[in-house]
Amino acid sequence: MLALVLELGGSHASCALAQDETLLAQQTLQLDKSGLRPMLPALEKLMRDVLNEANVSAKNCAGLVLGFPGFVDSRSGRVISTNAKFDDAVEFDMPRWAQEKFGLRFAIENDCRLALMGEHFAGAAVDAQDAVLVTLGTGIGAAAMIAGQPLRGRYNQAGCLGGHLPVALEGRACTCGNIGCAEAEASTWSLPQICRDWPGFSGSELASAPTINFACLFAAADRGDAVATAVLARCCQVWSVLAVALIHAYSPEVLLFGGGISARERDILPVIRAHVTRHAWNPRGAAQIRPAALGTSAALYGAVPLLRELFI
Ligand SMILES: [Zn+2]
Repeated sequence: MLALVLELGGSHASCALAQDETLLAQQTLQLDKSGLRPMLPALEKLMRDVLNEANVSAKNCAGLVLGFPGFVDSRSGRVISTNAKFDDAVEFDMPRWAQEKFGLRFAIENDCRLALMGEHFAGAAVDAQDAVLVTLGTGIGAAAMIAGQPLRGRYNQAGCLGGHLPVALEGRACTCGNIGCAEAEASTWSLPQICRDWPGFSGSELASAPTINFACLFAAADRGDAVATAVLARCCQVWSVLAVALIHAYSPEVLLFGGGISARERDILPVIRAHVTRHAWNPRGAAQIRPAALGTSAALYGAVPLLRELFI
């Protein structure tokens, strides 16, 4: 099966032509406008460039798949709710657009759920029917799969709010309106303020960093900076508590960690595994905690299984 697939991120879009477990062509585009509609001409060109690169006609594809950073209804092909990204997508008829521009059926899925479908189809969860994916990045994405089927729930939110599970009763305010969410306590968007509030910050090398992100946090910790080391330990603790919550909620066979921050998985995952061993209640078997395998392309690999689920 051939599938044309587009994933929208915070700052860029990725497009690929997927043939079963293989990506025949893949290109990315920097998003220089806000909203979905102003970007449509550039996105259409990106998709046509990918088709041309693979020398495949749109009519030979089984459908057009969109991985979207928000709540979506994969059954109707519509966006339900966004969090300050592509807000105009809620009112836009993407199925009609896909039919008019490419003559293709349209399928949409939450980006992290599509990534988990990709990891299950061609990545680190091919051997598991029950899996959870956590992506550590600007925020924290999550998705769950049970008995080989992505978990959606009555309102299509199931599994997607893993980053907004509270881990601190009197914690930081989150962008979602909740208090002490995992991503308010340990993600790229919340990290600068976490560091600035840490005792001794003014004496840390982080105080002179132009921007504070996890790359510079790891680098400062590697050089022995005490504040960076302590903040990093606290973040690993947050992700560990989140891992236990997700294991208790979904009983996965495999718990995957992906996203940009997990590039340092050799530092992070042993801490999480040790915490889970001590604190998770799973008498019938422990979840295997693994790094995701497909990196930023994971959602692109999810296109074929989504089309098979919805249209075959
Ligand atoms: Zn939240």
